[in-house]
This record gives sequence, C-alpha cells and structure tokens, in this order.
Amino acid sequence: MSAIPTLIQRQRTFFNTGNTYPVTFRIEQLKHLKQAILKHQHAIAAAAKADLGRPEFEAYFEMGVMAELNLALKRLKKWVKPKRVAPQVEHLPATAWIQPEPLGVILVIAPWNYPFQLMISPLIGTIAAGNCTILKPSELAPKTSQVITTLIKETFDSNYVAVVEGGVKTSQQLLAEKFDHIFFTGGPQVGRIVMAAAAEHLTPITLELGGKSPCIVDVGVRLDYTAKRIAWGKFINAGQTCLAPDYLVVDRRIKSDLIKHLQQAIHAFFGEDPVQSPDFARIVNDRHFFRLQNLLSTETPVIGGQTIPEERYIAPTVIDRVSWDSPIMEDEIFGPILPVLQYDDIDEAISQIKIKPKPLAFYLFSNNPQIQDKVLHSSSSGTICFNDTVLQFGAWNLPFGGVGTSGIGKYHGQASFDTFSNQKSVLKRHIWPDLPMRYPPYRGKLGLLKKFLGMG
Ligand code: NAD
Repeated sequence: MSAIPTLIQRQRTFFNTGNTYPVTFRIEQLKHLKQAILKHQHAIAAAAKADLGRPEFEAYFEMGVMAELNLALKRLKKWVKPKRVAPQVEHLPATAWIQPEPLGVILVIAPWNYPFQLMISPLIGTIAAGNCTILKPSELAPKTSQVITTLIKETFDSNYVAVVEGGVKTSQQLLAEKFDHIFFTGGPQVGRIVMAAAAEHLTPITLELGGKSPCIVDVGVRLDYTAKRIAWGKFINAGQTCLAPDYLVVDRRIKSDLIKHLQQAIHAFFGEDPVQSPDFARIVNDRHFFRLQNLLSTETPVIGGQTIPEERYIAPTVIDRVSWDSPIMEDEIFGPILPVLQYDDIDEAISQIKIKPKPLAFYLFSNNPQIQDKVLHSSSSGTICFNDTVLQFGAWNLPFGGVGTSGIGKYHGQASFDTFSNQKSVLKRHIWPDLPMRYPPYRGKLGLLKKFLGMG
C-alpha cells in the first residue's frame, strides 16, 4: 500500500475511535495550533518573503487567521450545540433538532498566493468541527510549504492532522482517494479537475475559486481615500490576490481625477521608483510574469508599465481607455495591472458586468444609498464590499466564498464549522401513542388524509 492511502486509512481509524468528537479535544487542538503559529511567526514571515518577496507587514496580514482562531475558541461551545426545531403536529408527541457531527477525513488543497492563510483558515474549521485533516500546500510557495510541514508535524499526530507536500502529481494522487470532504482553493481550471475527481467518489466539495472582481466608482465620493483603498487592494502582493479589484468602472466625469489620485496613492505607497520599495512584492514565477507581460504588450499604460524579467517585477500599472472587449477584460488578471473603463449610465455599467461570469467580489465606491441598493440587488457576486476593498475576507463572522464560476460553498468562522459538519436531522418520537391512521388497510382513510393535507 502506498503512503497516501495508508495515511488516509490511519486517519480514518483514528477518526473512528471518536477521540476527535469531544469539544474539549477540539478546543485543546485549536490552542495547540495557536501556540504553534505564535512560535513560528518569524519563519512564516520569512517564508512569505522568500516565496513572494512579500513585505513582513503583509505576511502578518496572513496571520490574521489568528483572529479566526480566537473566534472559534470563543464560540465553539455554542456552534456545537444541537439546534432545536419545532416538530410538526402530525409527529407529536416528539422532539426535533439538528445535531452537527464531524464528517471524517478532510482534504485541504491550497494555492500559492496566500499560502499560509489559505491552508490554516480551513484547518481551523476542520478542527473545530471535529475532523481529521490532510493538508496539501502549494508547491509554488515551497518555503511556506516547508514551514507549514514543520509546524504541523510538531503540533499534531499525523493520524489526526498531516501535511502531504508536492505538486500536481501529488495532488492528483490525493484526489484519486475517497475523502469525506475536499476543500480546494485555486483557479477555476483546476477547480474543474477537483470536481471531476470528487465525483468519482461522490465526495462533497468546497471550491474557493477566482474571477474578475469589478469595482465601480460613482460620483461624489472622496477620490483621495477611494484611490488609496483601491490601490491598496489592487497592489498588495503585487495584485496576486483573489479578491483584488480586477478592473475599475468609473463615472466618466471623475475618471481623470481618480487616475491622478491613483498616481498619488501609488507614489505615496511605493515611492518614485516602486522597484526600490521594500513594500512591493514580485510575481510568483516566470509563467505568470510572462503571461502578465504579454497582457501589457498591447496596452499603453498611463501609470507604471515597467517590467524587469530577471526580478519578475511588474510596476503598479494603470491602463486607461479600456473597452469591454479588450483582451485584458477576458480572464482574471492576478497581477498589478489595473484597467480603467468608464460609464455614463450606471445601469449600462451593471449590465456589462453581468455579462461576465459571477465574480468572487463586487466593489462599489458610492455615497448614494439608492446606487448602493441598486448594485446590491441587481448584481450577483460571492461577496460585496462598499467603499473599501479586500477587507471582507477578514470579516470572520461573514461567510466567505464565491458563486457560479467563482466558487461553491462558504467558509470562515461559523460557516467553516457548518461546512465541515454534517447537519444531522434528528426526530425523536415516543413509542406511544401509536395512531392507526397511516397503516394499511387504507380503506376509508383517504378523505381524512386529504383533509389533513388541505386538499379536500
Ligand atoms: P491553482 O489552481 O493552479 O493551484 C492550486 C492548487 O492546486 C495547488 O496546490 C496545486 O498544486 C494544485 N493543482 C494545480 N494543478 C493541478 C492539477 N492539474 N490537478 C490537481 N491539482 C492541481 O491555483 P494557484 O495558481 O495556486 O492560485 C491562483 C488562483 O487561485 C487564482 O485563480 C485565484 O483567484 C484563486 N484563489 C482563490 C481564492 C479564494 O479564496 N477564492 C484565494 C486565493 C486564490
């Protein structure tokens, strides 16, 4: 038997002992995880620097999962409680409730762009819900993969939580096996592969995918703050953020002013020459660098546009006069390039956005409650954030996930607990009294049944 099936079998055996079930055990494990993150924080930050050139400050954003961990520690006793439901009158005397129960052995596959956070955040949920877990970090963030392996090995028995490092082949070997749930974060293309593999075993899945997240800017907002918030959300991690505003759609009357403020914000964040800035990251690998350089080749940037292949550096870049059918409007950009489109009529802008697949995030900068309402109710996206960008990821009380091609299922906080639990329905009847109405022979009973169903 090869290593992966053996590991899964060992975890299944451990799960079946029931040891992961008590809430005290789960809380204990979450506390161990918390201590381990505290212990390894510098190694985590150094790994993010080595893998992605990420500034230390942004590496600590990834450790924002500590807030989710604290929330789970605080609320878990409440989440595990059975939820009473009113029984129907025909079932009386009876009680009914929803009993959350652990699923079993969970596989979590993470991407490279926030390699620590996107591995540990689902792990908090699998532990809280009482499961065993196998983690597959991204091979494209090798240093973080190593740190995660060390941290997990030191903290947990591999029969309970284990890391399997490796690339596509390893991922496919894992996906060939039967799990009780697969949680995947990555691109839609690989998402399809994961879904097809899961279908073989009828394994339930959560897919956290990406897409082109639009950002509308309405008249009347303070453009200096708006530009800062957009530039921050777009250029952290050099635009390699699933929730980054992918493109701007701006009221024609304020477009040139907004671009001026974007220029000022970029200058204030990264200085005259962003290549010198310690606060601006690099593109993860050559494949992504050349993909982005190719996107730039047909455009004329109004800000930035410089590239240095040896460093995989792409300057924070803004492109003006983009049309809805430009090549840059086809796929998720996933890099520091911000196209700007303009509108005269906001309904027309919303209609154009709605032609595209449903995004992970929708951003609107507007002070106008009617416009806010219109966007909220006439668009579809996994999340929506008014007057800021990206922060909704760290709102741990809100379920996080996509819709349509941007994802299936939600997680974070209680939503993670629910995702990694079976919401078992329980109906508890009394053995007596036992009404004869439902039993054959049925002769003479149909009228009563119809009356009961409101059909006669
Ligand atoms: P990816 O889909 O290429 O890879 C993700 C994981 O899948 C990695 O662990 C990788 O080893 C594995 N993998 C890659 N190819 C595979 C294959 N053929 N078969 C099986 N497994 C395979 O994604 P990525 O490039 O690491 O990340 C970027 C994408 O992830 C973007 O589209 C981004 O929007 C999305 N993303 C989404 C979220 C979210 O929360 N929704 C967060 C971050 C990134």
